[in-house]
Amino acid sequence: ASLDEPDAPESLVARAPIVTIMGHVDHGKTSLLDFIRKTNVTAGEAGGITQHIGAYDVTVSGNRKITFLDTPGHEAFTAMRARGAQVTDVVIIVIAADDSVMPQTREAINHAQAAGAPIIFAFNKMDRPGANADKIREQLSAMNILVEEWGGKYQTQEISAKQGLNIDLLLEKVLLEAEILDLKANPDKRAVGTVIEAALDKGRGIVTTILVQAGTLSVGDPILAGCYSGRVKALTDARGQRVNSVGPSIPVQVLGMQGAPTAGDKFNSLENEVEAREIANKRLQLQREQGLRTQKH
Ligand code: GDP
Repeated sequence: ASLDEPDAPESLVARAPIVTIMGHVDHGKTSLLDFIRKTNVTAGEAGGITQHIGAYDVTVSGNRKITFLDTPGHEAFTAMRARGAQVTDVVIIVIAADDSVMPQTREAINHAQAAGAPIIFAFNKMDRPGANADKIREQLSAMNILVEEWGGKYQTQEISAKQGLNIDLLLEKVLLEAEILDLKANPDKRAVGTVIEAALDKGRGIVTTILVQAGTLSVGDPILAGCYSGRVKALTDARGQRVNSVGPSIPVQVLGMQGAPTAGDKFNSLENEVEAREIANKRLQLQREQGLRTQKH
């Protein structure tokens, strides 16, 4: 069987949107990610999101979920895209309203547009005395980016990441965008996803954060990512809780990879471990050969 069989329409189920936050340095990306991470821990939920695994999922009003890639900035986004990974459904571009549209703001707009992902603009630092969101709206319109309140197509939200002002409204707009996109995936098959990050942990071995994009990943599954294979020994969610399985749009830490894949590598769960190892070895060999060839030139 192929690793990427098309899904029957009736097998598709709604999935949470996956969001990347981009913007100029110091405009408030980390503050926004931190605020959402801290506040969207529903009462009674064990743990809370304390550890950084490269992505986290939150539950917002109406029991709806949103997943955030927890690596602010453009590097992770472009590195993943360079490897052919398409993991972002919606991009939030943060612009400090007491500053201006800056070079990295333009870059973020270009990246999002190249990826075909809808953009929501978050005008941040509205608590600052010098904040002027209309000035930003004007600068955007000069770039042919017309915001919704001025008759255009781009949603915006004035926020203060520091004070946590209007973040709920921003998340509502993400969900609205997701509704339009009608995001779906088949949970009833072997998992397919993308590697978000991987590292060697002294006590635990290779720890790989994976974003499952379709199918369900379970403990015991043979797995393949980049040039490495393995078998899922344990799964830990963004709250640090052990889980037995995870479905689409959910990030999870995986123990059991035999080597560390690269962020942006495609990830697959396979029927058997021998097959996974064979494919991994072939890829490793191919990579070595390519390496030798480039060395000779
Ligand atoms: P990043 O580089 O885009 O990740 O920006 P940070 O989140 O690190 O924020 C840069 C600085 O701006 C920090 O000192 C934050 O405390 C501050 N900051 C971020 N958001 C706000 C805000 O809404 N209001 C105010 N007053 N300061 C903010």
